[in-house]
Amino acid sequence: MAFENLSDKLQNIFKNLKGKGRLSEADVKTALKEVKMALLEADVNFKVVKSFVASVQERAVGQDVLTSLTPGQMVIKIVNEEMVKLLGEQTVELSLKPSGEITVIMMCGLQGAGKTTTTAKLAGKLKSKGRKPLLVACDIYRPAAIDQLQINGEKQGVSVFSMGDKHKPVNIAKAALEHAEKNGYNVVIIDTAGRLHIDEAMMDELKEIKNSLTVHQTVLVVDAMTGQDAVNVSEMFNEKLTIDGVILTKLDGDTRGGAALSIRAVTGRPILYAGMGEKLSDLEQFYPDRMASRILG
Ligand code: GDP
Repeated sequence: MAFENLSDKLQNIFKNLKGKGRLSEADVKTALKEVKMALLEADVNFKVVKSFVASVQERAVGQDVLTSLTPGQMVIKIVNEEMVKLLGEQTVELSLKPSGEITVIMMCGLQGAGKTTTTAKLAGKLKSKGRKPLLVACDIYRPAAIDQLQINGEKQGVSVFSMGDKHKPVNIAKAALEHAEKNGYNVVIIDTAGRLHIDEAMMDELKEIKNSLTVHQTVLVVDAMTGQDAVNVSEMFNEKLTIDGVILTKLDGDTRGGAALSIRAVTGRPILYAGMGEKLSDLEQFYPDRMASRILG
């Protein structure tokens, strides 16, 4: 289960709170110190933790809460509400043009984040919403990325546009768009090339694609299991490229939750979807309230 380490710790802290009946300001402060430790151990960004705990504390130590009949429950409710805020409050959908027009989505991310898999997962989601997606193989450096996209596209019943690995990604993307216009596709999803680390060549290539055709949505794929690295990567991509949203992969194996809880607050960009497994159906829309409930139990 996702976030089990963090979840277990928070649930223990809350059990103590609920068990106490009456609460003093000191009880709340002690509990929030424990919450702070749990979040830091879960690899949540330090600044995010500080401001989260401060917001909860400000609301939780007032007379209204402490003199209420169920102060423990009230504190937990406040933690829940603040966590939903941290996760983005509202579900944000990928923004698509009307079906009569072509929406161009550029997928980016570091190698191994799950970009190619997620690209095929997303195509399946859009297909089931009645769209006609075309996948575009622009990851020309990673051996097997093109084959992988082709195989996954086939599994999803979605067409894949490829020109092999001898052309520049920007030219492949342009040709794909022409192909889409001629053949009635209304979503073009470009699988770009990642690298092991952020480097200038990758960013330049992505910028070139973005500047040469109208990209409507730039989506960053990051691996939740890399914790604060995922947050730093998101910050850098957003700085250089301006992303519209993040897809957080491998949440199924993330016991801590630090990336999920930090990305929105650090980058200001929403989490659009969560990858919950290797299967092509394992992509979930991101609901901040459900995610908070999952974490808080
Ligand atoms: P890329 O280099 O970013 O294109 O990464 P891939 O799409 O090849 O994915 C790298 C590995 O991560 C593959 O083994 C995928 O099956 C796996 N993967 C991708 N998304 C998820 C996910 O949400 N959960 C799990 N458990 N594995 C995933």
